[in-house]
Amino acid sequence: MKTLKIAIQKSGRLNEKSVEILKNCGLSFENYKSSLIATVANFPLEILFLRDDDIPEYVQDGIADLGIVGENVIVEAKAEVNYLQKLGFGKCTLKIAVQATSKIQNLEELNGKAIATSYPVILEKFLKEKGIDAAIRTISGSVEIGPGLGLSDAIFDIVSTGATLKSNGLMPFADVMSSEAVLIGNKSILDNPEVAELLQRIRSVLSAKSNKYVVLNVSKDNLQKVVDLLPGVKSPTVVPLFEPNWVAVHSVIAEADFWDKINSLKAAGAEGILVMPIEKIIT
Ligand code: ATP
Ligand code: ZN
Repeated sequence: MKTLKIAIQKSGRLNEKSVEILKNCGLSFENYKSSLIATVANFPLEILFLRDDDIPEYVQDGIADLGIVGENVIVEAKAEVNYLQKLGFGKCTLKIAVQATSKIQNLEELNGKAIATSYPVILEKFLKEKGIDAAIRTISGSVEIGPGLGLSDAIFDIVSTGATLKSNGLMPFADVMSSEAVLIGNKSILDNPEVAELLQRIRSVLSAKSNKYVVLNVSKDNLQKVVDLLPGVKSPTVVPLFEPNWVAVHSVIAEADFWDKINSLKAAGAEGILVMPIEKIIT
C-alpha cells in the first residue's frame, strides 16, 4: 500500500483548521511546531508542513498527492490540480481598492492607471476579462501602502474586514474573487482507494459540522406540528416519556437555518430543547 502525502500550511491562517480537520477524520499524528513532516500512526499518510505558496506546485508535481490551500494561491500559481473538496474555512475576498479621496468612479477609469498587488496572475485575468488596460505593479507585501507612496493608483489584495484598508485611507472598489481553503489532489491519484477513504471521512466531518443534534419534549397533541418542522437524516426518532401523553423527539437540523427552526419549534409546542454537536455523519 502506497503511503500518501498531504501538504498543509506550516504556520499561518490555514494551519490550525487544516490540522483540526485531519484530526477530526480520526488521523493520529504529532503536531510539533518544529517538524516539517509528520507520520500518521493509523492511516497510510504523511503530512508535510509547508509555506502555503509552495503547496499547489508540490501537488501538481506529485511531491505531495494532496494539499490544503486557499483557492487564491492555487489560481495565482496556475497549478494544474484537481479540486476535490471545498473546506469551509480560510474564507476571504480579493478586491481592488482605491484611496478614499480617489476620483476613480468605475472600472473603466482604471485604464492607464497602476495597480499594486501580490496577486498579478489573478488581477491580470480579471483586467483582461473586463477589457481594462492598467499597469500591474507586483510587490510581495504591504500593498496597501502603494497609493500613499505614489507607487500606484489602486491596490488589489485580500480583504476580510476592511479595517486594514481603512487605516491606510483606502476603500474597497471592486470584488474580483472569493476564496476559501480547498482540498486539492494530484491529477493522477483520483482512483486511489486511500484517497477515496480520506475524502469520505472529510465529507462526513464537514456535514456533521454543518448540522446539530436536537432533542426536545412535546405533548402528543403537538407532535405532528413539530415533526413537520424536522426532516432528520431519515425521519425523526420519537421516544415515549414517563409522563403520559408526552414524547421526546430526536432529530438533526442544519446549522444554516438553526435559529429560525428553533423558534418555529418552540412556537409549535417544543419544550426543553437540547442541542448537541455531531462528530460525524456517515451516509
Ligand atoms: P505562508 O507563510 O504560509 O506563506 P502567508 O503569510 O502567505 O503564509 P496567511 O496570511 O497565513 O499566508 O494566509 C493564508 C491564506 O489564508 C491566504 O492565502 C487566504 O487564502 C486565506 N485568508 C483568509 N483570510 C485572510 C485574510 N484576512 N488575509 C489574508 N489571507 C486570508
Ligand atoms: Zn504565503
